[in-house]
Amino acid sequence: MAPQPSLEAKSPYELRIDLGRGVADTDVRTALATGDMGFLHSFTTGSAVDGPGVRVVAWTAGCQWRCLYCHNPDTWTMTNGIPVTLARATEELGKYRHGVRAMKGGFTLSGGEPLMQHRFVEKLFAAATGMGIHTALDTNGYFGDRLSDEALETVSLVLLDLKTWDPERHRSLTGMDNAPTLAFARRLAARRRPIWVRYVLVPGLTDDLEDIAKTAAFAGELGNVERVDVLPFHQMGRYKWKKLGLEYTLENTQPPSNELVEQTCDVFRKAGLKTY
Ligand code: SF4
Repeated sequence: MAPQPSLEAKSPYELRIDLGRGVADTDVRTALATGDMGFLHSFTTGSAVDGPGVRVVAWTAGCQWRCLYCHNPDTWTMTNGIPVTLARATEELGKYRHGVRAMKGGFTLSGGEPLMQHRFVEKLFAAATGMGIHTALDTNGYFGDRLSDEALETVSLVLLDLKTWDPERHRSLTGMDNAPTLAFARRLAARRRPIWVRYVLVPGLTDDLEDIAKTAAFAGELGNVERVDVLPFHQMGRYKWKKLGLEYTLENTQPPSNELVEQTCDVFRKAGLKTY
């Protein structure tokens, strides 16, 4: 049997494609139905930006959205990921359990969109929780209703990406509706599961301060949003769009100015939220 490619990536900006190409369609379907195997784009240790403390992070492959500013378009296709059995993922995670606890961190599943493989997420988070590891789910929230209430109890924190408020603008930015994401946020609030909002600030796309104020008002009223991370757009994923032969429409978009980032943070602060 050919050796498996390394799961550990030097950075999430490393282009990784076709790693699961040899996996038969039926095996993909079985994996999705059982959650006994997942497709991971990459894996890293020592992250300090994907939840509290120092964390182990796995990026899943597969996303149904097509955000114009996505910096990981190689995560869109599930078979670009490495097939990893639940047993292997759990064993790998177990190696770090004492370390992440000592550094007040935990385990984060990001993507791609992890909930494309919600059964794998449920089983892996149950295993992590069983080992006493804090778990964070970085998600666009669209498939939040796939997680049972019981499974939600194993999610210590949700890093929820809110992209833009206006539904039309949301569709042109991501290709999808934002109503399911907002419904998931309300459900998390009702079940008192903490949220950290992530807001990617892209000049010309998500920098309308009135629109941001609506997102901020919504987040502020939920009562379970512990902080908002305003993430300035960058061009580190541009080369991936080119290598994958995708049309990239943000060629000439610059990162936001410090002033715009500060204005945006202010809008969230006015809604009673902490920003970083
Ligand atoms: S939801 Fe995330 S992974 Fe999916 S297209 Fe948007 S930015 Fe990319």
